[in-house]
Amino acid sequence: MLFKKIRKGHADWRDFLCDTPARDYVFQKDAYEDQINRSAEFIKDADSVIIGAGAGISTAAGIQYGGKRFTDNFVEFIEKYGGQYMTDMYAAGFYPYPSEEAKWGYWSKHALMNRFDPPALPLYRELHDIVKDKEYFVLTTNVDHQFYKAGFEPERIFATQGDYGEIQCQRGCHQKVYASEALFKKMDEARKDCLIPSELVPKCPVCGGRMAMHLRCDNYFVEDGAWHEAADRYADFLEQNKGKNVVLLELGVGFNTPIIIRFPFEKMVRENNSYVLIRLNMDEAVVPESFGNRAIGISGDMAGAITDIRREIS
Ligand SMILES: [Zn+2]
Repeated sequence: MLFKKIRKGHADWRDFLCDTPARDYVFQKDAYEDQINRSAEFIKDADSVIIGAGAGISTAAGIQYGGKRFTDNFVEFIEKYGGQYMTDMYAAGFYPYPSEEAKWGYWSKHALMNRFDPPALPLYRELHDIVKDKEYFVLTTNVDHQFYKAGFEPERIFATQGDYGEIQCQRGCHQKVYASEALFKKMDEARKDCLIPSELVPKCPVCGGRMAMHLRCDNYFVEDGAWHEAADRYADFLEQNKGKNVVLLELGVGFNTPIIIRFPFEKMVRENNSYVLIRLNMDEAVVPESFGNRAIGISGDMAGAITDIRREIS
């Protein structure tokens, strides 16, 4: 799940592979330049490209949840709640805030920093350049809106896990989400000692109960009309591209939530012999060996690899 606290080395991918036998996963030994050239050729020749994007692409693009970006901006929260809990923005998102004033005091800042303040980042813009003249679709677990900002067509994006820019009833009593930017900006201005004033705490307009971020973190996640329309468009896209030359371009998807992108992408390659998988991942770029030359796994810095692929294509 999106907000499960993950420490590097904590989850071992060999422990929970669904239908790829662990012994089938390999780190390819091909030279980087060959991988880039072959990726560019595959994309150029493809009828369509399906991008599957996880947290790793936003980290590579510059939205880091830890390190200096966290300690510089959340010093007040670290002092108030304790450095042992406030280690990064993932951990801070899980902190059991003692009141609604404290919860929204944190989340308003988190959303502004990761969703509203950053412009379209260069990595996303380059990715858009790569696919903009092709048939493409984006499936993403990211909630920071970068694909929309970078110029990808909204009707070609399915963001499955929500959006930092929306709130919903905490108990999901009705299937509707609410835009939160204006509210979060008010909270940001009024925040004192990490708390927002009580009069800014949102209440569900239907049941009067608490509100929550529109993020899939429990069974109350709201799938509204827009969510279902996006899901349908993605299903249609898959249907229309059966039997065509399709590149599945997987970016920064680890073994945190593999059932949304990673495993389904592998299944599609297994079932369609005209499909190719290009997997870019900092340190989990293992690919099924049985895919042979229909899989490319590129480890390390994704930003550099996207720049190189784009240069080869143009
Ligand atoms: Zn409600």
